[in-house]
Amino acid sequence: MTNISPDGKLTIDDLISFLDTVEWYDNSRIETIQACKRKAYYSQIGPTGTPLAKRVGDGAHFGTCMHAAHESYYTGWSSLTETARRLNGVRAFQNAYSELFPNGPQRPIHTLVNGLDIWDCYCDACLVEDRLYRPVDPEIGLVVRVAPRSHEPVFKPFWYVGRADGVWERVAHHDYFVGELKTSSGGVERRIKSLTFHRQPVGYVFQVRELVKEGKFPEVNNYLDIKGSFCTVMGIQAQKRDLDREYFVLSEEDTEDWRAETIENVQEWRTRRKAVGEMGRNWKHIYYKETEECTKYGLCPYWDLCKFGVTPDSLADFTIETWNPLIGSRPAPEHVEISDPGTIRISR
Ligand code: SF4
Repeated sequence: MTNISPDGKLTIDDLISFLDTVEWYDNSRIETIQACKRKAYYSQIGPTGTPLAKRVGDGAHFGTCMHAAHESYYTGWSSLTETARRLNGVRAFQNAYSELFPNGPQRPIHTLVNGLDIWDCYCDACLVEDRLYRPVDPEIGLVVRVAPRSHEPVFKPFWYVGRADGVWERVAHHDYFVGELKTSSGGVERRIKSLTFHRQPVGYVFQVRELVKEGKFPEVNNYLDIKGSFCTVMGIQAQKRDLDREYFVLSEEDTEDWRAETIENVQEWRTRRKAVGEMGRNWKHIYYKETEECTKYGLCPYWDLCKFGVTPDSLADFTIETWNPLIGSRPAPEHVEISDPGTIRISR
């Protein structure tokens, strides 16, 4: 384990160094493995042994700005007025926007004015309902060790990393939900439906339940008091404003199934990695293409490599992948809970 000061604090640099030394996965890594093995190979291994960075489009940057506003808005929940928090959200959005859109957006839906208006509408729409919830943490990093339990076949442990949009208490019920915020330009109703048992929020609930078992959330005694996910989808359109928030209750079986499926995915990926070179097997056939994925969310960032082949010229367009969910394109959350040993508050 990496350096932890006696007060249990870790710097973000220590945490990043730690992740450099262990085998870790997150929702993005597992979903990429599931979607296209070739894409996962480029982004997680790389033809020269160096993972190639995915280019991020305006839609993802706009979502990052909204996440920054959301985190800022729910910070100081009990000590600041709603007006002050709303303005903090505006500032956070503007700061993130000026970094991520230095040359302005390409589409009208991604203008600063549109973003701030969507943000303001979110605050208005949630004003009454928000009184029913208490943000225990407005944003939280989660790093959980997944290891064999006593009754399970042995496998090599790995780490699972996440960054959830808060842990929320339903005040009247004294139970808890783990937040997930999404932005969508393709329809709020469809997106919220997709989150009902989506791997990402279910994974967060699994992680928080595991950390409760380890005693990391002292105010929660029973891991099943973490009832499920609390998903928000903000529509990103120029004319129309659309928003939905839903609770999705998740059983213990739901999160245990998620754990078992994740272990299967990791084991299968490890087997695939070991197979390269065995019996003369070619990496291209092991990390095969899944061509339905190429244009699913805009053009795949590795399209040129698949079309023209891996050459020094095509590789020159890429930088080294250093992204992880805790740093991404904005500062790390102040609170990161990690499996053994001890709670960590990031010191800045
Ligand atoms: S271009 Fe298509 S086949 Fe190639 S990595 Fe991307 S999604 Fe996979």
